[in-house]
Amino acid sequence: MGEVMVNSIEWDKVHHFEQKEFDDPNYPGSGKLMNYKVVYLIDHLREVADCPIIITAAVDVYGEHGHSGNSYHLAKNGCQAVDFYIKTDKFPREQYYYVEKAGFGGIGIYYDWHAYGKLIPIGFHGDTRGINKLQRWVRREGKYYYLLGR
Ligand SMILES: [Zn+2]
Repeated sequence: MGEVMVNSIEWDKVHHFEQKEFDDPNYPGSGKLMNYKVVYLIDHLREVADCPIIITAAVDVYGEHGHSGNSYHLAKNGCQAVDFYIKTDKFPREQYYYVEKAGFGGIGIYYDWHAYGKLIPIGFHGDTRGINKLQRWVRREGKYYYLLGR
């Protein structure tokens, strides 16, 4: 996972997403900076879960979208993260099951996202940090709780 700035994504082999879905909205075309592994993981997840996946945030070129300096969304950290929700009636636990199986090193769970004025039952952050940094977290009432401590 060292060659993060190299764009080696073959978009014609990505079945369910287009590069622009990963764009930083401030920088059209920036989806090309995406880490290839994240894109392949979420594309496979889309296949397995068999429901539409809506990407809400991916590339954050300069940290202009509220991500911290060490966020995997940032270009300087390799654009290795994607935020998304699954458009489905499946229970949140079943959705988490598929996301967990997808192979992300970091998974965040959000219960406070809205789309079109409606609360999303569960939203996800997925990233491809190394497994030596593996982490799972949830945000509840604005506070973050981390599963793994050492
Ligand atoms: Zn995120």
